[in-house]
Amino acid sequence: MKKKSTILLVDDSKENINILLSLLNKYDVIVALSGEKALKMVQKHKVDIILLDIVMPHMDGYEVCKILKSNEKSKEIPILFITANTDGASIEKAFNVGGNDYISKPFKSVEIIARIKMHLKLSETLDRLEYMAMRDFLTGIYNRRKFFEVGEKVFAQSTQLYAIMIDIDRFKKVNDTYGHPFGDQVIQKVVKVLENIVSDDTILGRMGGEEFAILCRVLSADKLETITEKMRSSVAKLNLNYKDEKVKVTISIGIAQKDSQKYTNDTLDMLLCKADEALYKAKERGRDRVCMNM
Ligand code: GH3
Ligand code: MG
Ligand code: MG
Repeated sequence: MKKKSTILLVDDSKENINILLSLLNKYDVIVALSGEKALKMVQKHKVDIILLDIVMPHMDGYEVCKILKSNEKSKEIPILFITANTDGASIEKAFNVGGNDYISKPFKSVEIIARIKMHLKLSETLDRLEYMAMRDFLTGIYNRRKFFEVGEKVFAQSTQLYAIMIDIDRFKKVNDTYGHPFGDQVIQKVVKVLENIVSDDTILGRMGGEEFAILCRVLSADKLETITEKMRSSVAKLNLNYKDEKVKVTISIGIAQKDSQKYTNDTLDMLLCKADEALYKAKERGRDRVCMNM
């Protein structure tokens, strides 16, 4: 069953809150009686939509909205103002501070419900589109575009950084022998292996076809060698079956290190190129191995 959406209700009037609570009984509703409390609750709970009163003591709804929209964790949550101030200037301000919609008091129940539904649907659709735009469809890991978007930031911030390029060996033969759908399964299984080995702050992306890239901030070359060797051997050990036949696949891995002292003008592109050269060496030397570009 689909999980209920969570609504955060922010209003200093208990009377208003009680009316809205009875109206919104199909949702999970959490309540904040002040702007300050609302800001804290958003940090603690996963909130899907916020109904926000404008006139409140200490911190008014506009101020709360501005803060929520400037915060990474809450900026995408739709905010609906519920307000008695329906003059042009107030409405303009509600949108200027980042509000997504407003409902005038006294409100009509059908209107509130309809607008909540519409905004929940809209934000779900946006989430899904955003997910699709950054993920590779077959494997669910970052696509090339997202890999570069995230990677450029990490590259700029890190002095100690390694790029790893990985390519499945003789993959064309796998496709030619067992068919494209089986090839797809192989790609998925290889990615699962890689995902299980890398740590959470490692960036993993599909660069295209059967080629993957990793950006990794491990502290020593030794540790990196352990990780990449584990990737190689785990893929080689994968149990893949096509009908009754056991199928073996291997990967080749190339590594390059960002050297901030020597190459101050290096870019992520250049680092990946160096890793690609190492990968090419691994292929030349017989595949199923790890090579480092020093
Ligand atoms: P090498 O060891 O030199 O990397 O040889 P290779 O055969 O793996 O390299 P090549 O680049 O010649 O072939 C890659 C193949 O990967 C060709 C292409 O059909 C296949 N491929 C690319 N993307 C996909 C995909 O999404 N699914 C499947 N099943 N195959 C794919
Ligand atoms: Mg290949
Ligand atoms: Mg290739």
